[in-house]
Amino acid sequence: MIKSLGKCHYCDDGKIEVRNITVDNKPVKLYACSNAHWSYEHDIAELTSDSTCSFRIFQNSLLRWNKKAIGEREIRTLLSESQVKVRLYSSQAKKEYYKWLVLDEEYGCSVVWDVFIDPDEDEKE
Ligand SMILES: [Zn+2]
Repeated sequence: MIKSLGKCHYCDDGKIEVRNITVDNKPVKLYACSNAHWSYEHDIAELTSDSTCSFRIFQNSLLRWNKKAIGEREIRTLLSESQVKVRLYSSQAKKEYYKWLVLDEEYGCSVVWDVFIDPDEDEKE
């Protein structure tokens, strides 16, 4: 039984599922649409011909901003609310900060840089 985290926003009947893949010999979770499949040759992933969608988010998409992994709960929220607040870390300023993460058809997700989030803001929802 494959666990589904939510509905795909980019095709009709796709569900986002968790897959364990290996990139550069390291295990990585991939959150991918059930209608998207890749064949891997060396480090190049190619969409298979039976795929009708190409949506996926790599667990480590935010590594550049010092977030090691995007968790399954964050993906669930991202899919149901189209955005999720994520905690990033600035190694220059040596402090954490928060940003909204939104869905992106090409990259899976992208950070909304021009919206400032007050770290002391109450989390009432
Ligand atoms: Zn899809």
